[in-house]
Amino acid sequence: MLQTELGDITKVENVDAIVNAANKSLLGGGGVDGAIHRAAGPELLEETRELGGCETGDAKISGGYNLPVGHVIHTVGPVWNGGSNNEEDLLASCYRRSLEVAKDNDIRNIAFPSISTGVYHFPVDKAAAIAVNTVKVMMEENPDAFDRVTWVLFDEETKKAYDTALNSD
Ligand code: ADP
Repeated sequence: MLQTELGDITKVENVDAIVNAANKSLLGGGGVDGAIHRAAGPELLEETRELGGCETGDAKISGGYNLPVGHVIHTVGPVWNGGSNNEEDLLASCYRRSLEVAKDNDIRNIAFPSISTGVYHFPVDKAAAIAVNTVKVMMEENPDAFDRVTWVLFDEETKKAYDTALNSD
């Protein structure tokens, strides 16, 4: 099942893992990354320090600490730089790798934010289409692995883009 909801991903309770739109250092930052680190507490940073960073398009897992969820999957979205620098493939890779990491850890219910569409400036309509299509393919390829993927979106305009992508076929 694929769905969207409006809200703060740090408050989501009914999932096994939330995905963080991190940066390559995995040491925290602004936007959703900052919110996740604040809500999780300093132990999250202690753990992510040991993960050795993360490449763009890849994903790594940690505990959730003071968050209401057991795990955080940290993925690094591409910075939008005109669109001819492999941004679309790298964003698809974020969703694919996040779900691979989830599957490897028996995580069946996952919440994503809108990766790369904040300070990384990926156009939200394009990002939403890539997100939805990539997750759909992964769920078709792994029919028994996942129960629910939810995009937890921070503003109405972003939610509208993901709802449009979900309803487009
Ligand atoms: P990126 O660097 O990947 O662009 P940002 O954190 O800047 O990541 O933004 C990604 C999206 O996350 C944006 O739509 C932003 O509004 C949203 N966002 C920020 N804080 C939260 C939060 N607490 N819960 C869910 N989404 C959030």
